[in-house]
Amino acid sequence: MDVYHTGDLHLPLLHPRMDAGHGHSEGGDRGQFDSLHHLGSGQRNTNIPADSFPEQLRTISVGPDLDQLCVDAGIIRLRPRFGLVAENEEDVAKAVQEGQLRKLGVTPRGGGTSIPSQAVGRGMILLQNRQGVVITKDGDVVVQPGVVKAELNKKLAAAGRWMPVDPSSYASCTIGGMVANNSSGVRTMKYGSTMEFVKAVRAVVPGEHAAPVGPMTLEQALSGDARTKRVASLLLENQDEIKREQPKVTKNSSGYRLEKVVHDGVFDLPKLFVGSEGTLGVFTEATLATRAPPKWRLLLIVESSLEDLNSVASAFRVHSPAGLELVDKSVFRVMNRWETIEKYSRSDSPYLVFCEFDGNVGDAADMASELASSSVAGLDPAVLLAPSEIAQAWEARNEVLTIAQEIRKGSRIVVPGVEDLAVPPERLADLVKLLMDAFESRGLEYISYGHAGDANLHSRPLLDVTGRAGRATLEEIMEECFEAVWRMGGTMTGEHGDGMLRAKYVERQYPKTYWIMKEIKVLFDPKGLLNPGVKMV
Ligand SMILES: Cc1cc2nc3c(=O)[nH]c(=O)nc-3n(C[C@H](O)[C@H](O)[C@H](O)COP(=O)(O)OP(=O)(O)OC[C@H]3O[C@@H](n4cnc5c(N)ncnc54)[C@H](O)[C@@H]3O)c2cc1C
Repeated sequence: MDVYHTGDLHLPLLHPRMDAGHGHSEGGDRGQFDSLHHLGSGQRNTNIPADSFPEQLRTISVGPDLDQLCVDAGIIRLRPRFGLVAENEEDVAKAVQEGQLRKLGVTPRGGGTSIPSQAVGRGMILLQNRQGVVITKDGDVVVQPGVVKAELNKKLAAAGRWMPVDPSSYASCTIGGMVANNSSGVRTMKYGSTMEFVKAVRAVVPGEHAAPVGPMTLEQALSGDARTKRVASLLLENQDEIKREQPKVTKNSSGYRLEKVVHDGVFDLPKLFVGSEGTLGVFTEATLATRAPPKWRLLLIVESSLEDLNSVASAFRVHSPAGLELVDKSVFRVMNRWETIEKYSRSDSPYLVFCEFDGNVGDAADMASELASSSVAGLDPAVLLAPSEIAQAWEARNEVLTIAQEIRKGSRIVVPGVEDLAVPPERLADLVKLLMDAFESRGLEYISYGHAGDANLHSRPLLDVTGRAGRATLEEIMEECFEAVWRMGGTMTGEHGDGMLRAKYVERQYPKTYWIMKEIKVLFDPKGLLNPGVKMV
C-alpha cells in the first residue's frame, strides 16, 4: 500500500449538496476544469525542462494546483511529477509520447471522484479540457471526455433525449471517467451501466495517434492487424473459461469485461475499453446511445428488517422497477440528521427501501394500481406520485453521500475497500449481514447504503488508516469479505472499479483468466505506461 491520507479528500468537484460545503458554488459543476485552466496556463514544473514540452500542452506546476492532483476520492495520496492539460487529440498523443520518452506513468483524470484510488499516480496526470457534445440525427451523442455528466444531461434534455446512467457523483464526474470506470447509477437495474450505452470511442494508445475503436465482425477481427487478431483469438479460444469465471451478479466492474467483447458474431472492442480504468488507452471521445426520457415516475418507500430484506426486494423485483435502493437508517441517527428521513420512517425497522418505477406507456396511476393488487400492498409502502415529492425523497436518500464525506472522528474517517461489494441479487440479506458482522465484530462504527436491486452495497467502516494498525484492520476486512463474496458468486466491485486499492486482489477474483487480462494489457500498453498500479499489479 502507498501513502494514506487523513481523509481530507480534497474533492474539487462534488455532488451539488456537497458543493456548498466546499465553496464551489460559483462556476457551477465545472469548478475543477475552470481552476486548472486558470492556474495551469503558462506554468511549468520546475523539475522538467520547459522547452521540452509540446507548446500546446499546458502544465500544472508544483504548489496548490499540483496538490489537487495528489488525491481523488480515495485514501491513497501520491504526488505526481506534474499535471498536463491537453487541448486536443494531438496533445493527448504527445503527452503519452512524453511519458514514454521519460519513462513516466500516465494517469488520465476526469473529475477525480473515483473511490478506490484510480486517478492518482507518481508520474504525469493527464487532464482533458474538452467539452464538445454533438447529438446526431439518429439520437446518439458524441461527447468529449471533459464533459461533466450533469452538463450532458442538460444538453440532452433540451433535445428531448436522455442517458439514464447517473452516478450519485453526476454533478462532478466526467464522461471520460464514467466510460473508464463503467459507472452505474440508481436506474442501472433497468437500463444498464455505462457499458450498455457506449457504441464507440476514440482513444490514444501508447505509440499511436488517436484512432476510432468501434465494433467489427469477428471475421474482420480475425483477419485484422496482429493485435486485433490476437485479442480476438484469445477471447474466442478461452470463452468457456471466461464465462465460467464470471461472477453471478447483475453489475460488475472488476477486471476487464472479457465476456462482453465477443457476441453475436461481433468483436465489440469498445466493451474491452469500457471499465479499463485508464489502463488500455486514453479516451478522446465517446459515442453514446441515448433514449427518450420516461413520461412518468412513481416512487414507493417501505421499511424493512434484515430478516425481511430479501422478500421485500423480491416483491418489488417481479414488477421490473427502474431502481431499488437500500438505506440503513442508523446513519441518519448517528449524524443527528434524523429529520431528513423522519417522514418516511414510521417504525423501528432499521432499513428503508426506495423503489422507483418509470415508463413511457400508461401512467403512474396505472402502475400504482397494479402494485396495489400485488404482494407489494402487504409491505405498507408510502406511495409518491408528485415529481416534487419524488425528488425530495431522493434528496433524502442522497444525504447519506454527504454524511459519508462528513463523518470523521479525530483521524477516523469512513474508508473504502469493501465499499462496493456485489452478490447474486437473492443474497442481498447475506451481504448486509456479512458486512455488519465484519464491522461489529471489530467494534467499528460504519455507514451502509446501496443498490438493493443489484445486491450492491456501499458500506464503509470508520477507521484511522494513517497508522499501521488501522491499515492492517482494513486489509483484514477486505480479505475476509472478498473471500466470502467470491464464495457467494459475487464481485469485489459492482461499479467503482478495482483502482489501486483492490488491484492485488483481481487475480484472485479471476484465477483462471487473469493471464488473459495481463496479455491484453501488454498488447495495448507493452511498457505499462498507462495508469500503473491500477487494476493490475
Ligand atoms: C460521492 C460519490 C458518489 C459516487 N457515486 C457513484 C455511483 O453512484 N455510481 C458509480 O458508478 N460511481 C460512483 N462514484 C465513483 C465515481 O464518481 C465514478 O466512477 C465516476 O464516473 C468517475 O468519474 P471521474 O470523472 O471523476 O473520473 P476520475 O476519478 O478522474 O477517473 C476515473 C478513472 O477513469 C480514468 N479516466 C478518466 N478520464 C479518462 C480518459 N479520458 N481516458 C481514459 N481513462 C480515463 C482514470 O484514469 C481513472 O482510472 C461516486 C464517487 C463519489 C465521490
